[in-house]
Amino acid sequence: MSLTDTRSRIARAADAHGRDVADISLVAVSKLQPLDRIEAVLGQGHRVFGENRLQEAQERWPAFRERLPDIELHLVGALQTNKVRAAMALFDAIHVVDRLKLATTIARIAGETGSCPDLFVQVNTGNEPQKAGVAVDDADDLVAGCRALDLPLKGLMCLPPVDEPPSLHFALLEKIADRNDLPCLSMGMSGDLEEAIAQGATHVRVGSAVFGPRDRG
Ligand SMILES: *Cc1c(COP(=O)(O)O)cnc(C)c1O
Repeated sequence: MSLTDTRSRIARAADAHGRDVADISLVAVSKLQPLDRIEAVLGQGHRVFGENRLQEAQERWPAFRERLPDIELHLVGALQTNKVRAAMALFDAIHVVDRLKLATTIARIAGETGSCPDLFVQVNTGNEPQKAGVAVDDADDLVAGCRALDLPLKGLMCLPPVDEPPSLHFALLEKIADRNDLPCLSMGMSGDLEEAIAQGATHVRVGSAVFGPRDRG
């Protein structure tokens, strides 16, 4: 369990599926991790991190960034409309665009500030009622809506149901990305990054396998 082990898992999976490892970005999800573990991973030269809560990210990342301006931060957890401005100021990528209202707010603020993070539409591939993400049947419309707003939409993201084989969900996400001509797929976590890479993941979001078990949550 370490950054090095995770990098080798990614390299082996890329190799096994004829993928170029340079096309796969490791987003180290540091939510609920103590700062010394983040320090250690930064010390090993890693710069791409994910957080799932805006407030926690705001508390810890500006200080790291002051020291290391090349840090790249990805938001992987739910985003409320009234927090969009703050999220856009902090994050380089937002993986959780799941409704037109959110996309419209992002577009309005991007118009004011002249900049916008890279965006991913989150798809609820399992159509789970309690889970974030646009319904599978509405995904194409939301992609079209983001494009009509001229947003920098890079790809799709999913978080498969815990009790189902993830590969089917990764394959579905790949299919939706394919027919919409989207180059990026944010999928795969500590337990299933190999399956995700087999299905074309370009961004794997890995927490516990990089840092160790989380305190809570
Ligand atoms: C926590 C989290 C991850 C990382 O999960 P691990 O199982 O620790 O690798 C990935 N994606 C999202 C959206 C998360 O909230």
